[in-house]
Amino acid sequence: MTDAICYRDSYADRITATVVATEPGESERGPLVVLDRTVFYPGGGGQPADRGTFLRAADGRTWTVRAARKEGDEIVHELEPAEAEPPRPGDRLEVDLDWARRHLLMRTHTALHALCGVVWRDYGAQVTGGNMEPGTARMDFEFERMNGDLVDAIEATVNAELERGREIRVNVLPRAEAFAIPDLIRTKVNLLPPGISEIRTVEIVGLDLQADGGTHVASTSEVGRIRVTGYESKGRINKRIRIALAGSLQG
Ligand SMILES: [Zn+2]
Repeated sequence: MTDAICYRDSYADRITATVVATEPGESERGPLVVLDRTVFYPGGGGQPADRGTFLRAADGRTWTVRAARKEGDEIVHELEPAEAEPPRPGDRLEVDLDWARRHLLMRTHTALHALCGVVWRDYGAQVTGGNMEPGTARMDFEFERMNGDLVDAIEATVNAELERGREIRVNVLPRAEAFAIPDLIRTKVNLLPPGISEIRTVEIVGLDLQADGGTHVASTSEVGRIRVTGYESKGRINKRIRIALAGSLQG
């Protein structure tokens, strides 16, 4: 079982860890490495997995990590396919995230939750899906009456909420307790597999509360401002809103 540090400390970007297991690469896929602990986010909930590097202090050898994913209780790191010789079990590695990219993803993810919170509070529209890249994101809502004027108002309201410096709190609750929170029902917590005994929640205090596995910034003021870059109909009821962080590369 990997100690997955990202779920309790999203700001941890570098640690020392020990290699537990490896698997050679095959054709398209690079070698796989499992560590006793890691700061890598394995992807999920619309947030892409982290990238970064491993450094073996003993001989100065480095590897590029192109992705990570969750497999059971483990986080598996995938090296670049060109890395023929992965580290060996027992090796001590310095594990280093691409922090600029991760921090941008954290700001983007928190921005999405702020959007979600505003659209729910002010219009009662539920989220049906979402996805993000560093600095840009989209979210789909059951939002029949969405139009251009509403979208402008939403952008202004989200920015006002972000500016208020609302705190973001992460909690892990027993399943029964989480199910008792009415707000969580709208994020379809009831669709979670029955085997899960604990539910992690992410709260933008005073604005939004969701069952969520992602990494977030500590305060909405760290997000900065967002722009709505587009909106479209995905059917009579389903509508999509696209956002970008102001000042981000893609924004
Ligand atoms: Zn989320």
